[in-house]
Amino acid sequence: MIIDKFNRIHNYLRISLTDNCNLRCKYCMPEEDYAFMPKSQLMSAEELEQIASVFVSMGVEKIRLTGGEPLVRKDAGDIIGRLSKFPVKLTLTTNGTRLHEFTNLLQDAGVQSLNISLDTLDADKFMMLTRRDHFSRTMDNIHLMIERGFHVKLNMVVMKGINDNEIIDFIALTKNLPLHVRFIEFMPFTGNQWDSDKVITWQQIVSLAQEHYDVLPLEREKHDTAKKYIVPGHAGTFAVISTMSSHFCGDCNRMRLTADGKLKNCLFSQSEVDLLSPLRHGLDIKQLIQDCIAQKYKSLGGQFTNDFERIDATHLQNRSMIAIGG
Ligand code: SAM
Ligand code: SF4
Repeated sequence: MIIDKFNRIHNYLRISLTDNCNLRCKYCMPEEDYAFMPKSQLMSAEELEQIASVFVSMGVEKIRLTGGEPLVRKDAGDIIGRLSKFPVKLTLTTNGTRLHEFTNLLQDAGVQSLNISLDTLDADKFMMLTRRDHFSRTMDNIHLMIERGFHVKLNMVVMKGINDNEIIDFIALTKNLPLHVRFIEFMPFTGNQWDSDKVITWQQIVSLAQEHYDVLPLEREKHDTAKKYIVPGHAGTFAVISTMSSHFCGDCNRMRLTADGKLKNCLFSQSEVDLLSPLRHGLDIKQLIQDCIAQKYKSLGGQFTNDFERIDATHLQNRSMIAIGG
């Protein structure tokens, strides 16, 4: 078992397959020219499988593939196939643009649940936010995944003055569709122009929802990152991931492996532990994993508190989100 000094058992690994992406979301990818990692620096499919097998032998029960965009990696299908052989719940966070090419493969791999990111229901705004023209394809694929029986969670990063006017429209989507919308409070990462003024909080989102609907809270399950709600009679639900205003680090079970094989014990950790180089030298990486998690801070990577108005984002030390794997 992988346990930190606060007795939190870590059994959930999020693996970034690549820092490359076919979208350019402004809040995720730095504005200035971003150089993608060279292929030689990335874990190969074999290395990724080897590292994952070590984590599984240490008690990991759930693996999420992310990125960058995991499905732009040419051998994504091969990797999904390899990981599907482990006794874990395998899942994926994706921008949805390529899901139609992977539907059968994902079903064959036993994937049941998908997180798809969509920040607006307006095609022009999608273009402005992602700098790419993939709105229709994303929407079509969200519908396709629902039709094909996947449990679909829709991730929407809420930013003041940009898409906060669409919160009610997103909740309205859950009326007839079995969709689970997750509003994510805007988080600071290197190069993403974060400002506390752009954050719309959990409390603000729920108040707004209550002005339009009867809203019932749903019970929190262990390790939940989302505070969940339902509008009675709706087919789907909505939730808020309140990292900035009310963190959920108390029973955190998550670890993150970057595409270049570095282990981060928290989304906001400054430090990371290289697992790939030791693996390439034939060394045992188990102790490195234990030591990395043992160093985990109690909350938010030790970098800030929920008094988020006071954060000076220029002082945070981290990668950009696209290079971490959200
Ligand atoms: N490309 C995939 C996608 O977009 O779903 C997976 C990677 S993306 C980094 C994972 C999630 O992180 C997405 O839902 C994205 O919206 C979210 N994300 C990225 N930057 C963020 C930020 N600054 N604050 C909050 N969420 C963010
Ligand atoms: Fe790409 Fe996802 Fe980041 Fe958007 S949020 S740039 S889709 S990795």
